Amino acid sequence: MIQTFHVKTSTQTEFVDITRSVQEAVKKTGIQDGICIVFIPHTTAAVTINENADPSVVQDMVMELNKIVPFQDPYRHMEGNSPAHIKASLLGCSQMVFIESRKLVLGTWQGIFFCEFDGPRDRKVHVKVITNGR
Ligand code: ZN
Repeated sequence: MIQTFHVKTSTQTEFVDITRSVQEAVKKTGIQDGICIVFIPHTTAAVTINENADPSVVQDMVMELNKIVPFQDPYRHMEGNSPAHIKASLLGCSQMVFIESRKLVLGTWQGIFFCEFDGPRDRKVHVKVITNGR
């Protein structure tokens, strides 16, 4: 079974810490041990795992992503959101985390971030836990 929760973003580019929501989704499955896959079903958003202790880390990530993929360039995609599509593919639409005793196995400073590149929007996050039986 797939667990789905929503993320409402409020700006164009935004990293939202979804660690707690993913953890809750994992608990709902009742699965003790396995592998959790977080999947973003969108083409202009992504998911990444990085430091959630110092908020300036994700601010720096956004600043540098905006340099790598500028907002203004002779993009062909008529919708006008090519930078968002490119950033989404650079970061990727899924992440995998081990589950032990119903808990996400993350490093001390790690958090899971929903990465909005074409907000504000109402977004979905899918979570699936795969187990070999427990
Ligand atoms: Zn587009």
